[in-house]
Amino acid sequence: MSNKKNNLTTSWGAPVGDNQNSMTAGSRGPTLIQDVHLLEKLAHFNRERVPERVVHAKGAGAHGYFEVTNDVAKYTKANFLSEVGKRTPLFVRFSTVAGENGSADTVRDPRGFAVKFYTEEGNYDLVGNNTPVFFIRDAIKFPDFIHTQKRDPKTHLKNPNAIWDFWSLSPESLHQVTILMSDRGIPATYRHMNGYGSHTFKWVNEQGEAVWVKYHFKTEQGIKNLTSDVAAKLAGENPDYHTEELFNAIESGDHPEWKVYVQIMPEEDANTYRFDPFDVTKVWSHKDYPLIEVGRMVLDRNPENYFAEVEQATFSPGAFVPGIEASPDKMLQGRLFAYADAHRYRVGTNHNHLPINRPKSGYHNYQRDGQMRFDNNGGDSVYYEPNSFGGPAESHENKQTPYSVSGEADSVAYDHHDHYTQAGDLYRLLSEDERTRLVQNIVEAMKPVTKEEIKIKQVQHFYKADPEYGTRIAEGLGLSAPQEV
Ligand code: NDP
Repeated sequence: MSNKKNNLTTSWGAPVGDNQNSMTAGSRGPTLIQDVHLLEKLAHFNRERVPERVVHAKGAGAHGYFEVTNDVAKYTKANFLSEVGKRTPLFVRFSTVAGENGSADTVRDPRGFAVKFYTEEGNYDLVGNNTPVFFIRDAIKFPDFIHTQKRDPKTHLKNPNAIWDFWSLSPESLHQVTILMSDRGIPATYRHMNGYGSHTFKWVNEQGEAVWVKYHFKTEQGIKNLTSDVAAKLAGENPDYHTEELFNAIESGDHPEWKVYVQIMPEEDANTYRFDPFDVTKVWSHKDYPLIEVGRMVLDRNPENYFAEVEQATFSPGAFVPGIEASPDKMLQGRLFAYADAHRYRVGTNHNHLPINRPKSGYHNYQRDGQMRFDNNGGDSVYYEPNSFGGPAESHENKQTPYSVSGEADSVAYDHHDHYTQAGDLYRLLSEDERTRLVQNIVEAMKPVTKEEIKIKQVQHFYKADPEYGTRIAEGLGLSAPQEV
């Protein structure tokens, strides 16, 4: 026997007799604790929120597919890239970084660009940004950096002193700060921006030969940005502007598309390239390593339920599939731990079993129990390894490729300290109008800094990238330009 289809039920499946009036002792009497439907309704409501992401809290997502358009099998054995025409379903989440879950979309901030490919050999997550570089290059600095982007513990306001103090004392941030303050710092929509894997990864082919790889997703909609003024107006009028725009575009059949390219670096070049290719504050020059087309990504379906599909989506840069591996990038190495760990805390130990995260190829392992284990928990199958009962076993052909390491175990910085050339290269490739807006954006952002020495230190960094760049910012702030490079 079952409930009538349209009967409202409690979570334990019993029909609810009254969902409009709580049960009271007499019509004016106090509410009765025996109205268990009321108790459950209020208690569940109290628990509707999971902790918001500590970064990338505000986001929008969409389903789609990836299609291979060029044969890259000589570089990687990744099954989803194995033949031209092959399509793989995927889910993408775009986001801002620093704001809370309800914050405005059109702020100046990098945008998260996270892709989950549901491949036949497990999920592959590429958890990138709309910028090819990052502010820092060692994960040990990440909590401090994010503290400066979040609210001041006393005022509960954003704190320009903290933001610029950290950047001025971490000059490796200069390249990303320049991108952030340029026109690309506020995309017009989520559809009009590029995506980048940012880190260097390793691709391995069937023969076990490895290359280093960087990913580029180029928008087919063209790059479009918002000026600071328009963005500020939109933030007031419609804080969910980007979320709404993406949803409406897809709903109306205007399916956004990105062409996906890689740069490939032969393994041995990493030892001799003019800077460390694992340093995430640097790009690889397109002239040295030209873009190679791989495929296209199309977003063609909106989520049916935001919480189930977007809020509960859990991306990890450590979700690799055979043929794709980590590089020694120190920022990536930290993220390999931090993302999955954040999801264990935020969504739960068994977050990978949720429909949005579950590999479509299935999973067979010896993980058991944990909060919210809502499949059959392995049933009566063997629950340890090795075993003599035919349980799933490792496949040696899927071992990671070895690579040589040398030196002493120590806490050491990257040995390359040129934080200036690439930031300057970017400044120099901008048009005069773009430079003017870049300088204005920086001047406006730095004006509220009250500690003079922070401004002076930061202006010196801009000056080192390009004397004109530094001089114009110094002038805008009413400071004298540095006299030397
Ligand atoms: P290239 O001339 O080969 O590359 C220039 C790249 O700069 C373009 O391909 C484009 O990247 C990007 N770009 C163009 N206009 C703007 C803009 N207004 N704001 C931000 N980025 C822009 O030279 P290099 O490879 O030597 O790079 C020079 C500088 O370009 C770098 O220092 C870096 O700041 C920037 N850049 C480089 C990228 C790379 O992967 N090499 C990627 C993005 C920026 P895209 O086609 O990806 O939009």
